[in-house]
Amino acid sequence: MDRHVAIIAASLILAANAPAISAPAGSEPDSAQADPIKVLVGRLDLDRYKATIKGLTQFGDRRQGTDRNRAAVTWIESKLKSYGCSDVSRLKYTYFSTDAQRPSGPPVARNADISVGGARYRGVRAQTGVNEDPMLQPDEKLRALNSQPSQGGAREEVYCTKIGATHPEEMYIVGAHMDGHGWGEAANDDGSGTALVMELARILSAPNVKTERSIRFVLWNNEETGLNGAWAYVTQRAALQGKEDPAGSGRYPEPKWLGMIQHDMMLFDHGMPHTDGSTPTEQRPEADVNIEFQSLAKVADGAQKLAWAFYAANEAYATDYPATVGPHMTNTDSTPFMDLVPAISLRENERGREIGAGWDPQWHQPTDVFATYSDADFRLGLNAAQTTLGAIGRLSGATLSR
Ligand SMILES: [Zn+2]
Repeated sequence: MDRHVAIIAASLILAANAPAISAPAGSEPDSAQADPIKVLVGRLDLDRYKATIKGLTQFGDRRQGTDRNRAAVTWIESKLKSYGCSDVSRLKYTYFSTDAQRPSGPPVARNADISVGGARYRGVRAQTGVNEDPMLQPDEKLRALNSQPSQGGAREEVYCTKIGATHPEEMYIVGAHMDGHGWGEAANDDGSGTALVMELARILSAPNVKTERSIRFVLWNNEETGLNGAWAYVTQRAALQGKEDPAGSGRYPEPKWLGMIQHDMMLFDHGMPHTDGSTPTEQRPEADVNIEFQSLAKVADGAQKLAWAFYAANEAYATDYPATVGPHMTNTDSTPFMDLVPAISLRENERGREIGAGWDPQWHQPTDVFATYSDADFRLGLNAAQTTLGAIGRLSGATLSR
């Protein structure tokens, strides 16, 4: 049977068995109580996810060190507050382009065959790079919006926390970076990951959702300059882990890290470039959510275990696209965590072998705008959201109260 026909048939059966009187407002039907995670995942919605990405694009490329970046931080913060997420906070640090670079991935000997993270290139490769020419942005309004240059100095990034009911002293960190560059709207890189994290913060902060362990939602700044926002977080807060403050308060400003999950470029999996350098126009039928851990990390075993937990959650909860696990996580905000705690990334493609080989022609280009993407593209990001919400719901022990 055609899959769509099967879905329609299934929903007809459900409709036929539905009780005549709907459940009282604020409660969930009994069948849903069997798996509260499924109810939570069901609260994700393609239109809402797209609307949050669209909201981020009003700030253009959100380049770090600009007014449009600061305005985006404030907008994200106000959204997190409106969702009821607890302890909305800002981490402060400074960034100057002359700062010493810290590692973006594990040390690997790169050559024509080996990419960042240790991945081996295969097949056709296309040109990649960061666009720095404003005139390549044909939209004059967007060009003007992106025109203020970046200035070194004070930086801020926002986070909030779902506080665990029985283990407030332990947490998972769920992140994405809100800054971008390239003279577009940074819609995919990384509006798509930022919106995913914001949607999870919204759903998990609902008053009838309880988790045993804490979950922190972080929207990193300065990813594109070398993961500086994530490095600042690790530098400032690693030593605070698990400390009750004030003593006896039951409050843990930095719960002990159990895992870090990063989302960076979630939408576009059209496959390998053609030999002429062009890209297939449609989302490929084999599109998948790429879950990567880093086999060279000090906590590789734990990270791999975490990756497979996400794979299992994808099989249980993602509606359209499967997941693939790979060992070459690199060049995103999970890197600064990977030697301290199990850390993974979710992406549209593997970072080294695929994105690094030009599979995403919008990457850091003026074409990374909302209008570039189809619903089949946005749906891949939604499936990553379903995967992470399913996995983090299970790992944190999420339940629903009536
Ligand atoms: Zn990115």
